[in-house]
Amino acid sequence: MATILDGKKLRDKILAELKLKIDKFSTKPELVVILVGENPASKIYVNNKKKTAEKLGIISKIIEYPENVTEKELLEKIEELNNDKNVTAILVQLPLPEHISKENVMNTIAPSKDVDGFTPYNFGKLFSGEIPTVYPCTPKGILLLLNEYNIQLEGKHVVIVGRSNIVGRPLSQMILNENATVTVCHSHTKNLADIIKTADVVISAVGKNIIKGEMLKNDCVIVDVGIFKDENGKTRGDVDFESAAPIASYISPVPGGVGPMTITSLMLNTVELFEKSL
Ligand code: NAP
Repeated sequence: MATILDGKKLRDKILAELKLKIDKFSTKPELVVILVGENPASKIYVNNKKKTAEKLGIISKIIEYPENVTEKELLEKIEELNNDKNVTAILVQLPLPEHISKENVMNTIAPSKDVDGFTPYNFGKLFSGEIPTVYPCTPKGILLLLNEYNIQLEGKHVVIVGRSNIVGRPLSQMILNENATVTVCHSHTKNLADIIKTADVVISAVGKNIIKGEMLKNDCVIVDVGIFKDENGKTRGDVDFESAAPIASYISPVPGGVGPMTITSLMLNTVELFEKSL
């Protein structure tokens, strides 16, 4: 039976250490989150970020805009925050309404305050094999989790399912930096099951239950990023835990695996930006 990759336990350990560090700062880091519209999931994420930050002693502010805010108004606010010496980190919660260009928003956030690592500057650095100001939160959390369990990636075949800008794409570069052989799959991939069968490590970020135990190689490592509610309202991941856990050597649960690590990385990134700004 697979060992559980316990994101909650690692979160508690990392955040306890981080709090001690923040306690010693004479001024405190400040994280500003911009939320546009009424998306209920986004509201929950943003409030969780604020609560976690405040527990650690990070000053946390949420700036809320109605759905119909203009792009100009939003960009002006970001410029104002870029120039505000008290602000350490800026996060614009995605998704944004369609009339606002995500590209223009990302282009406006100062790379030195880009806590998600999503600006073209930081993405460009990552994709050219250089070190960005900070690494994107979910991929960073996944690597912290694998590292905690001493799972080496060098020479391994890592199959990532999903190629979004928040998970699959940046993760592929970070895993490449670990000297693994990386295959990135997506909705047009043919023979997904055959590819997964060759994986030493499977990292799935799709949002649908697509991976069953019979598709896996014995003793593979599984990181399940996906999260969605099934028809009974139960929170599920991409991987069928019951059939996968007896075959894998390690598996991250949903909930309690990658989710807590994403928020942990956000807090780590805020403090990293703060230290760089000093
Ligand atoms: P996304 O932007 O919708 O991307 C989903 C990816 O899955 C796309 O690349 C898509 O391919 C691919 N895909 C869809 N159906 C597929 C199939 N049948 N076979 C193979 N690939 C398929 O989603 P996201 O924002 O990356 O999020 C993915 C999941 O991770 C969601 O459940 C989300 O809630 C979760 N998530 C969790 C955390 C966390 O902290 N735990 C963080 C981020 C995301 P195409 O590119 O071809 O469309």
